[in-house]
Amino acid sequence: MSEKIQSILIVGGGTAGWMAACILSKRVPDMSITLIESSDVPTVGVGEATIIRMARFLRDMGLGEKSWMTACNATYKEGIYFNGFHSKGTHYWHPFQSINTDVTDMWLHRYYQERLEPNSYFEMCYGNTTRNGRNRINIENKVNFDKIERIDYTYHLDAALFAQHLKEKIAKPAGVRHVIDNVTDVKLAENGWVAGIVTEGNGTLEADLYIDCSGFRSMLLQGKLEEKFVSYLDKLPNDRAVAMRVPYSDPNQEMHPFTSATALEAGWVWKIPLWHRLGTGYVYSSRHKTESQAEEELRNHLGEERVRQLPANHIKMRIGRCERTWRHNVVAIGLAAGFVEPLESTGIELAQLGAELLAESLLERPSHASICQRLYNAKMQVIFDEIADYIQLHYILTNREDTPYWHDQKYSEAPLRFETLAKLSRRELSFSNDEAGDVFSNTAWNSILIGMRKLPLRENLPPLDARKYREACKAMDDNFRAAKRQSVEISEGRKNPTHFEFLSNTVYQGAARPDAG
Ligand code: FAD
Repeated sequence: MSEKIQSILIVGGGTAGWMAACILSKRVPDMSITLIESSDVPTVGVGEATIIRMARFLRDMGLGEKSWMTACNATYKEGIYFNGFHSKGTHYWHPFQSINTDVTDMWLHRYYQERLEPNSYFEMCYGNTTRNGRNRINIENKVNFDKIERIDYTYHLDAALFAQHLKEKIAKPAGVRHVIDNVTDVKLAENGWVAGIVTEGNGTLEADLYIDCSGFRSMLLQGKLEEKFVSYLDKLPNDRAVAMRVPYSDPNQEMHPFTSATALEAGWVWKIPLWHRLGTGYVYSSRHKTESQAEEELRNHLGEERVRQLPANHIKMRIGRCERTWRHNVVAIGLAAGFVEPLESTGIELAQLGAELLAESLLERPSHASICQRLYNAKMQVIFDEIADYIQLHYILTNREDTPYWHDQKYSEAPLRFETLAKLSRRELSFSNDEAGDVFSNTAWNSILIGMRKLPLRENLPPLDARKYREACKAMDDNFRAAKRQSVEISEGRKNPTHFEFLSNTVYQGAARPDAG
């Protein structure tokens, strides 16, 4: 496939399909793009928490917070809070603030000298994030409602509304043709490449390149081209979810500016506060719980009374990735390419990365088409595998054995990449602001290792500089004191705004209260 690609057909109109349409229509000039989606096959209906690259996407698309957030019932997200993963009663954070390297270096020295609690790492080094434990927003001075500039916070959003917004505000105005129809078959040419997409009402649609965004069905890449699927189930046993949409009892209390993940008997529960409701669900292993057991545990966890009338949505998850996500003239993006379970909210980011990388490759072609394609496949493999490893650490570094699930996680012998094993065995945390891997920053890697009590050995500590030490200790103590002061202020009724108050007075000014009925 060395000739110039002039037309693209995207199959699927979920978050992945519309993000791909936006990115390609903006970045690859003179491309004719069509997106086909079914009105009979629903989107997956979950996926409401994003991570840090989302801000870059929104900025590139020229979307200001005031307009897109209200259209998508979006809220702010400053990090992820993990509860009960290492042992019951412990917690840790994945903060999105960037690192102050001196401060974090010094925390390690003090950890050994003063026998600090591992959790003090988050309070001393990431006071801004941890302070919002009681719903207080800490980014009020950072946001610029009209133009997104910063990328040390991100968002919760209603994924269905987000896809709709991207379609209406970006993709269609950029010339993307939208077809609503059912795909009934995929035609293959003699050489095994896709020759056309057969539809119910629009005949056969043809293009130079086909993008499979058909969700877990993966109609083109896995369905028709039979691309090999590399399962992660040996590493990540959670293969089911049961999701619920819960109205707020009191948004002022419940709308926290972070995603929370709480460990349960056979997996974990997410809580994602949107503007109009809470999104929640239990991600679990079907080897350890049946559907009805999982639903019962989730209902008990949320308060049986509160959620008695609410329906539960059971979802089967295919955990793993395609061996090659670009094969012949088909590229899969989103769930069609693969899925690592949602603990770190990486699904939408994977779709974004896939589409951005594809846009880059298309601009490079046709001079070395085959290299572009191989490079794309190699990069996507590395990205998927890094995410899978990173998520695996939340489980296998556990100290819990109280249920068969946690026992199995603790004694898991599932493989890890060499890079991850090296990080674990050397226990050398890196506090530089360089990217640690393709997806996760050093902040993220340090958080999981410290949160799961894999602290570096004393002899691996960074060298000590007396002046820097004094300054860093002061900054750390200031953070810590601010966190403590804020909790006193809150208990005494003096406070900076809650996330809900802040949104009500800014982005959602004039909107009805979400619990108004
Ligand atoms: P889908 O939403 O399934 O869309 C598939 C599209 O294909 C639909 O438009 C459908 O109509 C179309 N289609 C299918 N068959 C046909 C046909 N025959 N003809 C025409 N069209 C067809 N990601 C995050 O980033 N953060 C999260 O917090 C998060 N949580 C998750 C929780 C769970 C339990 C699960 C399962 C996933 C989660 N994800 C999350 C992943 C996220 O939901 C997806 O990555 C994202 O929604 C993209 O989905 P998609 O567009 O690939 O597929």
